[in-house]
Amino acid sequence: MKDFFENNCDVAEDLLPLYADGGCSENTAKLLRKHLDVCPECRKYLKSVKRMKSKLLEDDIPDSAPDYKTLSKKIKRRRKIYTSIITSALILLTAGDIIYFITNDR
Ligand SMILES: [Zn+2]
Repeated sequence: MKDFFENNCDVAEDLLPLYADGGCSENTAKLLRKHLDVCPECRKYLKSVKRMKSKLLEDDIPDSAPDYKTLSKKIKRRRKIYTSIITSALILLTAGDIIYFITNDR
């Protein structure tokens, strides 16, 4: 399996999207890099895959206001976080008071 991808652009092209995602095993990546070194066609393909990927990532960033469901979920999550912070603060304060009373009890 020395030059598995040699003259085997189909297989290489199947794997290149995975390679671009970093989802290949190190051995597969090594073989692909070897093939990319000698195959300008697949290099071009990899470039277009990467370009497409970054475009998709850009599209993932919302350019409009988040919809209500996401927003309310976010608010609920934030409220939960605040509630737990306040609760633990109260517990700490109470515990501090108790410890204070115990240690200063004469
Ligand atoms: Zn190729």
